[in-house]
Amino acid sequence: MPFKAVRADKTDAGQDVRFVEMEEADLMDGDVTVRITHSTVNYKDGLALSGKSAVIRRFPMVLGIDFAGVVETSGHRDFAPGDEVVVDGYGLSETHYGGYAGKARVKGEWLVRLPTGLTRAEAMAIGTAGYTAMLAVMAIERHGLTPSSGSALVTGAAGGVGSTAISLLAGRGWKVIASTGRQSEADFLRRLGASEIIDRTSLSEPGKPLGKERWAAVVDTVGSHTLANALAQTRYGGAVAACGLAGGMDLPATVAPFILRAVTLIGIDSVQCPMPTRLEAWRRIGSDLDRRKLAEITQTIPFDQVFEAGKRILNGETRGRTVVTIGES
Ligand code: NDP
Repeated sequence: MPFKAVRADKTDAGQDVRFVEMEEADLMDGDVTVRITHSTVNYKDGLALSGKSAVIRRFPMVLGIDFAGVVETSGHRDFAPGDEVVVDGYGLSETHYGGYAGKARVKGEWLVRLPTGLTRAEAMAIGTAGYTAMLAVMAIERHGLTPSSGSALVTGAAGGVGSTAISLLAGRGWKVIASTGRQSEADFLRRLGASEIIDRTSLSEPGKPLGKERWAAVVDTVGSHTLANALAQTRYGGAVAACGLAGGMDLPATVAPFILRAVTLIGIDSVQCPMPTRLEAWRRIGSDLDRRKLAEITQTIPFDQVFEAGKRILNGETRGRTVVTIGES
């Protein structure tokens, strides 16, 4: 049976991204074929859907950096038909066909079994953004920081990574300071557990090498001056988990926070994250994340609205997470 997919093709003018009909024979190599039920719209998906970004590294490419679904056929010893699985990263939508399609064929070693207690829709409400937020929280904890160390700053607060990070940190007892450009989302962020809301412009302009020590930990999704200012205002011995570049890829900082305040900058990567850490992150999400808060940050759209959702996320208009219903549950 043919199925619908969002495919990017190379053209003389650049890229052509649109809905196409595909068949199982068109899928890429792999030992597990999955019937996809849900995917999501992450910032990186917005970039790829725009048809103008360098996210895609081989053509043609099926977009969608993550998906949840049910195994149809498997040549991998750990998976059998009927198993519910989740996958994100591993080059989906970059070098391997991704989740915006009725089916995908992938390597079994990329798959994570659906965490106990989560539905496939909930797992995608978490998706790459939520799992990245969990990786950042785990990195901060590995650094030895706890709520008694001080406050935690979350930048890009109303976005997917940011809103999940707030829920996770507040759930662990942290006092969370949320930095947002959308004061209209203040109540939403407070409901997720933020204690204080600051305007993102207070961090996005060039700042001093060191400022007043305001927080012990940071989950930064913005980069550029915001990340530099977050570092400059981190307390002695604190840590900053850098996840994203919504405000820019540059880092116009000095070494002052590192050599005068022993601040640590921790890089967070979800794509090539080793499987043991990946499994630990999903296990923790399953046990730690408040389902009511997850529902609060989630909106669900049908597959045919994915292009509009991609535009909204690039315009910074998305609140929390967007789940895409791909096929019948
Ligand atoms: P979202 O678009 O959902 O969230 C990003 C948020 O950043 C926006 O909601 C907005 O928050 C803020 N923002 C947007 N534009 C700007 C700007 N110009 N200056 C300052 N703030 C801005 O995206 P995601 O949460 O999905 O992803 C966030 C970032 O993390 C992206 O850069 C993404 O590429 C990256 N990422 C990295 C991963 C990794 O493996 N390291 C995995 C997943 C994501 P507000 O309105 O509250 O100000």
